[in-house]
Amino acid sequence: MSEKTIFKRIIDRELPADIVYEDETCMAFKDINPAAPVHILLVPKKEITGADKLTEEDGPMLAHMFIVAAKIAAEQGLKDGYRMITNCGKAAGQTVFHLHFHILGGGKRMPWA
Ligand code: AMP
Repeated sequence: MSEKTIFKRIIDRELPADIVYEDETCMAFKDINPAAPVHILLVPKKEITGADKLTEEDGPMLAHMFIVAAKIAAEQGLKDGYRMITNCGKAAGQTVFHLHFHILGGGKRMPWA
């Protein structure tokens, strides 16, 4: 069996994290190296290496995660908006191969790219 990712270990409570949300489907915690005043990682409990491995049956899970993200953003005070991104693959900067969405905001207006 392949080794657990850092995020799977956080989900399994083997590693500490600053958890801001959890339900049966997903967990959210603060990024250890924040790139914005608010930087939360939202991860599904289902083990999927990245966005390129999603299937049609993951649709309800994804919809749920977008709804959760909006709730988290509101709770974190991101009333003017937030960015939600996923890096897919090494060339895009993915370093942890368990699907996750970065929820970023709270600073000045974020230019694209
Ligand atoms: P990515 O580069 O898109 O795969 O994002 C991985 C993110 O996980 C980076 O922003 C890291 O700062 C973050 N990260 C790595 N280890 C931890 C950890 N133990 N707790 C919280 N965030 C982490």
